[in-house]
Amino acid sequence: MSVDPKPQAAASACKTDASSSCGRTHWQSRSDAQWRAILTPEQYRIAREAGTESPFTGKYWNTKTPGTYRCACCGQDLFASETKFNSGTGWPSFYAPIAVEAVTEHVDDAHGMVRTEVRCARCAAHLGHVFHDGPAPTHRRYCMNSASLELVAGGEKRS
Ligand SMILES: [Zn+2]
Repeated sequence: MSVDPKPQAAASACKTDASSSCGRTHWQSRSDAQWRAILTPEQYRIAREAGTESPFTGKYWNTKTPGTYRCACCGQDLFASETKFNSGTGWPSFYAPIAVEAVTEHVDDAHGMVRTEVRCARCAAHLGHVFHDGPAPTHRRYCMNSASLELVAGGEKRS
């Protein structure tokens, strides 16, 4: 009596938790259908279609809980609560990402404005925009959408 080996997990099995070892190429090859399957309609509209949530409506604009904000799409650490500040804008705002390589910046000239879009460096999720009117020490304001983030309370570090 033989025991068949378990089939290898399919490419679609990326998990948004600390055990995920999927890399950038893996995440960025996901199809729209795969994203729709794991995201809420609001998350999909914002993170995959560069939407913006209404101010003062997201779940994190006024959150002061210590912890780490991860990408809602792929689980990568993006921002630490220590860098979160009250910007008064109604969106969660940070003066720096948790690591320079965690996010990428892109010129966005939609809506008749030239802004700097911020995306997750691993899965290219749209996170929000960065402006140059933040507090010291960076004087930058990462204006993020709550829908693109997932707060893990306690600031547990990932290796
Ligand atoms: Zn991501």
